[in-house]
Amino acid sequence: SKYVFRFGGGVDDGGKGDKNLLGGKGANLDGMAAIGLPVPPGFTITTEMCTRYYADGETYPESLNAEVANGIAHIEAVTGKKFGDAGDPLLVSVRSGARVSMPGMMDTVLNLGLNDQTVEGLAAVSGDARFAWDSYRRFIQMYSDVVLELDHGKFEEALEIAKEDRGAYLDTELTADDWRALVDEYKALVLKQWGKPFPQDVHEQLWGAIGAVFGSWQADRAKVYRRLNNIPGDWGTAVNVQAMVFGNMGDTSATGVAFTRDPATGENAYYGEYLINAQGEDVVAGIRTPQYLTTAARERAGAKPLSMEEALPETYAELANVFHILETHYRDMQDIEFTVQQGKLWMLQTRSGKRTAKAALKIAVDMANEGLITREEAVARVDANALDQLLHPTLDPKAPRDVLTKGLPASPGAASGQIVFDAETAERLNELGEAVILVRIETSPEDIHGMHAAKGILTARGGMTSHAAVVARGMGRPCVSGAGGISIDAPNRLLRIGERLLKERDIITIDGATGEVMAGEVPTVQPELAGDFGTLMVWADGVRRLKVRANAETPADCKTAREFGAEGVGLCRTEHMFFDAERITNVRQMILAETEAGRREALAKLLPAQRADFFGIFTEMAGLPVTIRLLDPPLHEFLPHEDVDFADVAAAAGVSVEILKRRAAELHEFNPMLGHRGCRLGVTYPEIYEMQARAIFEAALDVAKASGEAPIPEVMIPLVATRRELELMKDIVDKTAKAVFAERGASVDYLVGTMIELPRAALKAGEIAEVGEFFSFGTNDLTQTTIGISRDDAGRFLTQYVDKGIFARDPFISLDVEGVGELIQIAAERGRATRAGIKLGICGEHGGDPASIAFCEQTGLDYVSASPYRVPIARLAAAQAAL
Ligand code: PEP
Ligand code: MG
Repeated sequence: SKYVFRFGGGVDDGGKGDKNLLGGKGANLDGMAAIGLPVPPGFTITTEMCTRYYADGETYPESLNAEVANGIAHIEAVTGKKFGDAGDPLLVSVRSGARVSMPGMMDTVLNLGLNDQTVEGLAAVSGDARFAWDSYRRFIQMYSDVVLELDHGKFEEALEIAKEDRGAYLDTELTADDWRALVDEYKALVLKQWGKPFPQDVHEQLWGAIGAVFGSWQADRAKVYRRLNNIPGDWGTAVNVQAMVFGNMGDTSATGVAFTRDPATGENAYYGEYLINAQGEDVVAGIRTPQYLTTAARERAGAKPLSMEEALPETYAELANVFHILETHYRDMQDIEFTVQQGKLWMLQTRSGKRTAKAALKIAVDMANEGLITREEAVARVDANALDQLLHPTLDPKAPRDVLTKGLPASPGAASGQIVFDAETAERLNELGEAVILVRIETSPEDIHGMHAAKGILTARGGMTSHAAVVARGMGRPCVSGAGGISIDAPNRLLRIGERLLKERDIITIDGATGEVMAGEVPTVQPELAGDFGTLMVWADGVRRLKVRANAETPADCKTAREFGAEGVGLCRTEHMFFDAERITNVRQMILAETEAGRREALAKLLPAQRADFFGIFTEMAGLPVTIRLLDPPLHEFLPHEDVDFADVAAAAGVSVEILKRRAAELHEFNPMLGHRGCRLGVTYPEIYEMQARAIFEAALDVAKASGEAPIPEVMIPLVATRRELELMKDIVDKTAKAVFAERGASVDYLVGTMIELPRAALKAGEIAEVGEFFSFGTNDLTQTTIGISRDDAGRFLTQYVDKGIFARDPFISLDVEGVGELIQIAAERGRATRAGIKLGICGEHGGDPASIAFCEQTGLDYVSASPYRVPIARLAAAQAAL
């Protein structure tokens, strides 16, 4: 089969812009060449080759040699240069390109094809020896790092020393002879570290680079990135080999990166950075400070150096036209790399641009309004999970700020936390539940786990398109980059900002929307949820079938949930209502009572409090269904655990410490999650559920009377395994309802249903539906009991399970559709067979996870229930699932 596809110079091998085959970069190079944009000629080795390479023990098939040779011949034909020709050498770039972009995660080699002979040819042809030798030293440096994997620091050091010796500040101040001398030093370094001279054979160079790109697919940082972004390990990367073009051939040359709309705000304005007389890596690496693309942006920032629009007006106009063509062609905001070689524009890459959630919303809504995409496409395009970024607080504009310095507003959102200087510490403190801000000179792909663990990222170097900025925006982490005013003393764990000296673990706040860095913690405010967010939500609500409810147990949660669009409460966990100081005493008295009469006495004291809880919740949710789950956890959770607490509790409960301890020991369970909990409590202590049912019905009647609008209580029994259990529990609820309605001379409609959170319940759903009027899948427990993995202990080993491909994702976050999902399907089918149209919902954590919501849509559930902040995510995900 065919593993090499050529592009450019009017040749098209029919790759048809297929991302799966050519990788994202290769597909779009092919696509741009096909619509006649200026793309340097090249070829792509497919992702299928990568997969085969690994399947065959990291070897290539025979046939690949000829295919690659044919690809090189194509580039030679279009450029009129020869690979390895000492007179006029062809130089190529070798880059990775997976199906989805993995910024900075994999390897690139530029200027490949230079050696001791061809460098002279390049100098002669370009008439610029300085440029030729600079290119050669860059190539040796990159190749040594990426392909030979030699110590990068030594090369950096040699460059720094060379600059110091010449009293130079910028690379551009070094002469041809300086670079030539540095090349000698680099070659000596290679010989010393690698034990062999730097490869002079250009074909050996090429195959080395191809191997390194394929190899980088299995690098640790790539694996971490794939895990965080749910990218399958067997997709592989493509390799793109392309004729080099040079942005560092004098003042009519330049290189830059651009977005066709602002990736931070979504504003419909070109956005980007460029550098005159530079190579691509100079812009992203953050070594020289890039200049603005447009004059408007430059003026807004109050910056001096000319924009590209001013410095190279004709090329800029050509570029702007290409932006327009690309946006119209790909119908999405594009992230573009370009180079200008002596006045001639070349497109090096285009891809759908990463953007903040805010920008994603605005761009989707704007593009639908512009008629570029449909409303359904707009709904489909916004990553539901990314909405999370918008639903969280921003800095209170009225709060005082002790501003230390200002950097670039690289990724919006505000965060406070303890200063840490390395990714490992960030991870360690995060595991201990501490909020941290990762402070680095600049970030590299190795820092990715630390960036994920941090609440925010602050860097001293780098522009808006630096690694830190791109990755932080993708992750939704606030980031301030290029804060030149800070200096980091990593060995001593100190951060100096002007006169101020901060230590590791001191608290700072960063505002990724303004670039401000502040001392201490600054209070935050809730975000405004109108505008584009509101528009998209209306469009989403227009297409979704699933209802969205919230898991909420306080009136405040209910209010938030309603504001976020919840259409009811899918799970009100009643146990959390018993933990405040006053109530817990009564709860403990109830637990400690040795007789039913004793328990009833304590429960009578809990009744008014519980009724007040439900009154508040029903009032907030007036007119909407509210599912209230009766007591679920093992009782010993309410008893003291520390010795010191026993004395207090004993005094409050009016029993001796000995009795209390004896009772606590009696309640001890070896495996409480599978112990005396859920409806088993109702079976042994029916009076507990009776009190709760009474509180529900009395509150419902009170609300009906007060507001004229009766709530619709749905009483839910937890951890049911058998029909008989549910029958006994329903009997308690019905009898209590009857009694309350008789006492009050009024009634409300209600339902009694059950959670399906045990495999037996799922299997016997047909029988259980004879009694239960609704099912709610408790997928937290159902996952725990189906897989047999404790939900409280899974964290210790589940990451490895995901890394080793046992589960594609953590099954407590994203539903195990194949296993747990099958039980849900069985239960839904059998439940409906008994009781046509039985109401079905899900209230485990999965109810807020887009992939799990898609499964709920396919299974035809009636609603999902998610935590209040995830309600909008669920609304959007439900719409996407329905499209
Ligand atoms: C569940 O088990 O999925 C559930 C919603 O109940 P809890 O998390 O309270 O056990
Ligand atoms: Mg449960």
